[in-house]
Amino acid sequence: MNKELFDFYTSMNIDKKVLEYCDSIEERLTKRFRDIDKVCEINQIKVIKAMQDNRLNEAHFAGSTGYGYTDEGRDALEAIYADVFHTEDALVRSQIVCGTHALATALFGNLRPGDEILAPAGKPYDTLDSIIGITPARGSLAEYGVSYRQVDLLPDGSFDYDNIRKAINGKTKLVEIQRSKGYAVRPTFSCEKIGELISFVKSINPDIICMVDNCYGEFVQTVEPSDFGADMVVGSLIKNPGGGLAPIGGYICGKKEYVENASYRLTTPGLGKEVGASLNNTRAFAQGLFLSPSVTANALKGAIFAANCYEGLGFKSVPNSTEPRYDIIQAVELGNEERVCAFCEGIQAAAPVDSYVTPVPWDMPGYDSPVIMAAGAFVSGSSIELSADAPIREPYAVYFQGGLTYQHAKYGIIVSLQKMVEKNLIVW
Ligand SMILES: *Cc1c(COP(=O)(O)O)cnc(C)c1O
Repeated sequence: MNKELFDFYTSMNIDKKVLEYCDSIEERLTKRFRDIDKVCEINQIKVIKAMQDNRLNEAHFAGSTGYGYTDEGRDALEAIYADVFHTEDALVRSQIVCGTHALATALFGNLRPGDEILAPAGKPYDTLDSIIGITPARGSLAEYGVSYRQVDLLPDGSFDYDNIRKAINGKTKLVEIQRSKGYAVRPTFSCEKIGELISFVKSINPDIICMVDNCYGEFVQTVEPSDFGADMVVGSLIKNPGGGLAPIGGYICGKKEYVENASYRLTTPGLGKEVGASLNNTRAFAQGLFLSPSVTANALKGAIFAANCYEGLGFKSVPNSTEPRYDIIQAVELGNEERVCAFCEGIQAAAPVDSYVTPVPWDMPGYDSPVIMAAGAFVSGSSIELSADAPIREPYAVYFQGGLTYQHAKYGIIVSLQKMVEKNLIVW
């Protein structure tokens, strides 16, 4: 760190000790960061090429209102998404209100009474419990006569192929595979690993629809699950692919038939993709996609910096400081409530928005213990922007993600360490 930067940070009330420690950590990450930049470069050009091939132009940003018939910008953006993910078709809409809604739309659009969903790699993301009916809920797939089966991972984290084979039956219509670990304690799957599972499922019945929850995984590798046989990849635009600029939205990319089926659920049978005004969102969606490879790279660097800083102080980091990464989530086990709160206070204090508020643990619906959340985002709830959250319970793990710029993510970690130092919560 040069003197100017050092003096600048000290003028921001960061201790010399914290700065020297962080600097020593960052110096070791040069090679890792260079590898991330290479992935970013390929993805950046992949996105630009898709935009060029689809002749993206100024007129596409005009948007539409009302029914949104012949919205050429919306259609161009969907063609661009399809090219980036190497799929036949895509649905990329402001009317998809979040990632959960995108997943529900893909499921409801493609399943019929009597069909069965199989989760061959453990339970899907928590918000899918109500959609599938794993926990009874009004309007769930279970109420429509769609059944559900689940095969958990083996204790070593590998796929339980024997039981997956046994679970697949004449009713199995769709398998749901989640790329990111979410709040589970398994590792995140690489696209290659997801590909192995898809090949296995297809070897038993090639007609089974393989759907991947791609949330937080986009652009972390140079490939996507759709390059490994996934029939549908689904995600949120207020995570990686929105690049921080999309104010709302979700996407479903995949085989034409399945994307169309989803569109009949999103709007109506008969209308499908033909309607749905883009309003004024096309420019932000396109520009966000353009920035996404670089934003994702910055978030990844921030996660790696966090893992190395905290692991160096003796805290278990998942993934650890050196493992390969397949999503942008970083978990750090801080061991007690005081440290969890100090960490979140640091992230909050480093935010561009709402920096003056102090996050505190709170009882939230759907959680069995109080939860503390730190976020100061331009887009409400956006988790590609720097944020941290933690349930107040053993092992007092905080989940840290996002950062539109590496400098912001790094600053968040520096301020979190500063809070720890001020409260005497760490030993060097
Ligand atoms: C964020 C996320 C979702 C969807 O969540 P929303 O908050 O509805 O956007 C689904 N699956 C995973 C793995 C996620 O990380």
